[in-house]
Amino acid sequence: MVAMRQRGPWFDRLVDISAIPELREIVVRGDQIRLGACVTFARAAAHPQLRALTPMLAEACLSIGGPQIQNVGTVGGNVANAAACADTLPVLVALDAQAHIAGAAGERVLPVSELIIAPHHTALQQGELLTAFSFAAPPAGARSIFIKVGRRNAQAISRLSVAAIGHVDAAGLVDHVRLAVGAALPRPQRLTAVEALVHGQRPAPGLYALAGAQAVAVMLDITGRRWSTEYKEVALSQLAPYALARVLEDAPLPTRFDTP
Ligand SMILES: Cc1cc2nc3c(=O)[nH]c(=O)nc-3n(C[C@H](O)[C@H](O)[C@H](O)COP(=O)(O)OP(=O)(O)OC[C@H]3O[C@@H](n4cnc5c(N)ncnc54)[C@H](O)[C@@H]3O)c2cc1C
Repeated sequence: MVAMRQRGPWFDRLVDISAIPELREIVVRGDQIRLGACVTFARAAAHPQLRALTPMLAEACLSIGGPQIQNVGTVGGNVANAAACADTLPVLVALDAQAHIAGAAGERVLPVSELIIAPHHTALQQGELLTAFSFAAPPAGARSIFIKVGRRNAQAISRLSVAAIGHVDAAGLVDHVRLAVGAALPRPQRLTAVEALVHGQRPAPGLYALAGAQAVAVMLDITGRRWSTEYKEVALSQLAPYALARVLEDAPLPTRFDTP
């Protein structure tokens, strides 16, 4: 709607898909989750099982715009719009979510990380529709977090965001870790080099700091130095260690949804 007002309609037909029941479903079977593309941010954030299994997804949805945007905007729209700063993207990528796509030629499935090819560009072909996202919940006992840095607390576009999942085994070593960043790279992706550095290690401030430095190195490797690098390298070097510490240690997680 905002784009239409800015540049006028660039299409000859507009189809409202928001009431198609299949696209609005949230299905949780064990640890397998299927989220319809037309699920609004507000519904995803309010879903008790989603909140329990993937708190970072609810956190991301509640960080988007304000209540008006959360009541109307959808996860599918957020992904298809493919803004580099889209808040559901790092979360879905950290979860290794698959995008389900329907078209006249049939259905296909693509990892969300491959669906986004550049800012505001996706691999969707003309006439294709995102129908759902599917993913496994993080392993039992894992903690997850989404943190966004914006200029204010509401109606703020992410300057940088981080989605992290972590679990420590009985011996005190990291046996599951995922880290994805938003608004830092042209397309959302897991920072697998950082994950490899942390996996198998004992959580400690020194490890988090190394991970932060590695995250910055990965970002610079992909983007080079840009006008925003001066800010983002400092922010990421702090945000990545903070997120890892929160998911790998026992302290209560900061949350936007304290009341059920
Ligand atoms: C005031 C304001 C604040 C905002 N704040 C944030 C924020 O903090 N964080 C953030 O991430 N975003 C933010 N946004 C962006 C907004 O969340 C996204 O644009 C929104 O998710 C898309 O809304 P929608 O679901 O209504 O999709 P639409 O606007 O209807 O569609 C967006 C694009 O995706 C396509 N599309 C939609 N659904 C599908 C589908 N199922 N299959 C294929 N293509 C599809 C449409 O054709 C269109 O090109 C903000 C927007 C506004 C106006």
